[in-house]
Amino acid sequence: MEEPPPDSHHRRRICNRCDRPNPICLCHVLPSDLLPTNTEIIILHHPLESRHKLNTTPLLIKSLNNITRIPSRRLRRHHISAASPPPTIYLFPSSPSSPAITISEFKSLNLKNQQISILNSNPSPLRLIVFDATWKHAKEMVRASEEVLREVGAVRVCLDNGIDASVTGGTIYDSELLLRKEPFGGCVSTAEAVARCLRVVEVDGEEIERKLIRVLKEMVRMQSVYLKPMKPRPKLLKKRFQNQQNEEDED
Ligand SMILES: [Zn+2]
Repeated sequence: MEEPPPDSHHRRRICNRCDRPNPICLCHVLPSDLLPTNTEIIILHHPLESRHKLNTTPLLIKSLNNITRIPSRRLRRHHISAASPPPTIYLFPSSPSSPAITISEFKSLNLKNQQISILNSNPSPLRLIVFDATWKHAKEMVRASEEVLREVGAVRVCLDNGIDASVTGGTIYDSELLLRKEPFGGCVSTAEAVARCLRVVEVDGEEIERKLIRVLKEMVRMQSVYLKPMKPRPKLLKKRFQNQQNEEDED
């Protein structure tokens, strides 16, 4: 009797724990139990982004126990609980019309408030809203969500060393930058951004960050082995180049 052919079939199987195809299963680096956090994390997930192979939100869902993913282009009132809302922050770079404070600045401000209410012995809960989308879509999502963000008194925060166009490189996630071709250096993935935030605001922040980054790095390593970098087809490239030329000519 012939042996079954070395299976192309099996390789397509999806791991039932991490929901990833078996060859790029990440179970060996995922925390064995979901990591508890004092921070409630809400990921507003752009529908297009959630289909992207290199999207990092699923890694967070498989690693953290106080996280909700909302597939939507805008934050709506019913998405977030109204009863005694905790202090709420949303992660987005500073802009002239909506300046952000760094997450560390927020923490020290918040600590001062906590010291006023001495009876509060537990670390006060916090809500962190993150927009997971391309840069362009995230801007649209924040704009569309402004009303609700204002209603819940959400404070705009940015990462301590900034994720804005003026920052070049410096992320531990440069390999994803290569894969995703983010528009400028300093852009970090959603998972890295959340990891960096939690490092600052959580009691066990450094430990949580370390565990999340470990998963992230392993994902990048595996994707770089299994995914061929995308190259635009020569024809398209040529056409795009010609269009560009034409636009320039028209100017
Ligand atoms: Zn797995």
